Amino acid sequence: MKNFLARQKQEGFFSVRFKSAAGKLTAAQLLAIHELAEKFGAGFVNLTSRQEISVPFVREENFTAIEKFCTEHDLKLCPLGAVFKQVTACQGTQTCPSGVIDSPKIALELERQHGGRVLPNKITCAVTGCPNNCMKVDNNDIGVKGAVEPKFFADNCVYCGACAKVCRVGAIKIDRAKKIWTLDRDKCLNCGRCVKACKKLALRGEVGYKIYFSGKDFLPMIRAEERLYKIVDAALKYFSEHGKPRERFGKMLARLGTEEFTNVLK
Ligand code: SF4
Ligand code: SF4
Ligand code: SF4
Repeated sequence: MKNFLARQKQEGFFSVRFKSAAGKLTAAQLLAIHELAEKFGAGFVNLTSRQEISVPFVREENFTAIEKFCTEHDLKLCPLGAVFKQVTACQGTQTCPSGVIDSPKIALELERQHGGRVLPNKITCAVTGCPNNCMKVDNNDIGVKGAVEPKFFADNCVYCGACAKVCRVGAIKIDRAKKIWTLDRDKCLNCGRCVKACKKLALRGEVGYKIYFSGKDFLPMIRAEERLYKIVDAALKYFSEHGKPRERFGKMLARLGTEEFTNVLK
């Protein structure tokens, strides 16, 4: 049975955590949590690093009443322990001018597919809308980052060098005299800065996803959203089959190496 009560250091007290929808809670849900914290807790909440709302100082004997309250007020409890944790997300294209992907949409779909899935150990997952990486996806077991692949259209290029100037990794080389523009795809971070810098429409960005496992990216930019979900599913299956009990995902990869894992994802 899934456990929803986190033991506190204060004898006899527990906290319960509530999910947000990729960081979003309605005003009605907030009011319900307010009521719940007054009724069953100590009248305050804590925000967790996983975009959950935690209500501390709850008594175990009130848990059945809390579950009933949740059903009546559209609140979802977060299971504890070795499960796929709530997926965190920034707002991406929904509100952020820098966003290149709809991070909450991706996070909610991953949550729908895997939320609460029992695994050898917990899995943390985050989605960030662009290479600015506000959600620090590399600090999670699985991280998804919005990415841009620059496409070059020679007919529009005036070889001004603005794109090369903004590239932080020197992936673009330009020979003005010979009118040669080159991109080193191995160096490219898919950040899209060059695309923004080009005022002549000689660079256009193809949007996709970079995926990270324990901070490392094994795969080139993913173009289709469906493929992203298949990769996450394959990674979790691999973890279920190969992870030892209580072993973290990164430890499993360190123990087994990444060659077989990368092949499973392809
Ligand atoms: S990661 Fe990008 S899209 Fe997400 S909040 Fe930060 S700047 Fe905006
Ligand atoms: S910024 Fe645009 S026009 Fe200028 S060199 Fe780069 S691709 Fe060409
Ligand atoms: S996408 Fe970013 S890293 Fe890649 S070439 Fe453009 S500026 Fe450089």
